[in-house]
Amino acid sequence: MSPDFPAPPLPVVPVAGGGSFPVHRIYCVGRNYAEHAQEMGFTGREPPFFFLKPADAVVPVPFGTTGAIDYPSQTADFHHEIELVVAIGRGGRDIPAAQAADHVWGYAVGLDMTRRDRQGEMKKQGRPWDIGKAFDQSAPISPIVPKAQCGVLSAGAITLAVNGQPRQKGDLRELIWNVDETIEQLSRAWELRPGDLIFTGTPAGVAAVVRGDVMEGLVEGLGTLRVAVR
Ligand code: MN
Repeated sequence: MSPDFPAPPLPVVPVAGGGSFPVHRIYCVGRNYAEHAQEMGFTGREPPFFFLKPADAVVPVPFGTTGAIDYPSQTADFHHEIELVVAIGRGGRDIPAAQAADHVWGYAVGLDMTRRDRQGEMKKQGRPWDIGKAFDQSAPISPIVPKAQCGVLSAGAITLAVNGQPRQKGDLRELIWNVDETIEQLSRAWELRPGDLIFTGTPAGVAAVVRGDVMEGLVEGLGTLRVAVR
């Protein structure tokens, strides 16, 4: 039996140096840097938690170019969150932290773009965050750098500037759950599969962008993700 409409294209993210990484799911870690948890009104001592974005929310942007995303509908407070993204190459359930590195294929620089006003309303009402987090074009992402090329990333600067002005600043060492612990926790709740992306959380300094702004996010050891808001 043939389908009634063509299958949607599989979202893919280019690999630095050639090739492509087909995206299965996008997992995101919430409040994984203490200072960001504090700026969101928490103590920074609560355990991190997870939410998801649809796989086709990715907007791949090659290194050395400026990508573009549309200012979304239904918000007047559109926030940037610069994040280290982990690309899973080997799946599994109940992966111990000590073995998690074997499941990492590579890394990317990502933006967890957020309708902060909608997210705040949903939080207040105890409703799902999807409208605040899981919308179209909400996951701009650099090419994936294979771990074979950059090594294991566990330290290094993570920063974001808007129109050249510094906004966010942190270090991967400050992650509350590091990458290995994140994989351990995630794989207890979901079976990880090759093609999964994990947005590992954002450091302090989240703020709004408007049409015409250009965001420049850097993760030391990977490169710069440059995205304009149109
Ligand atoms: Mn985030």
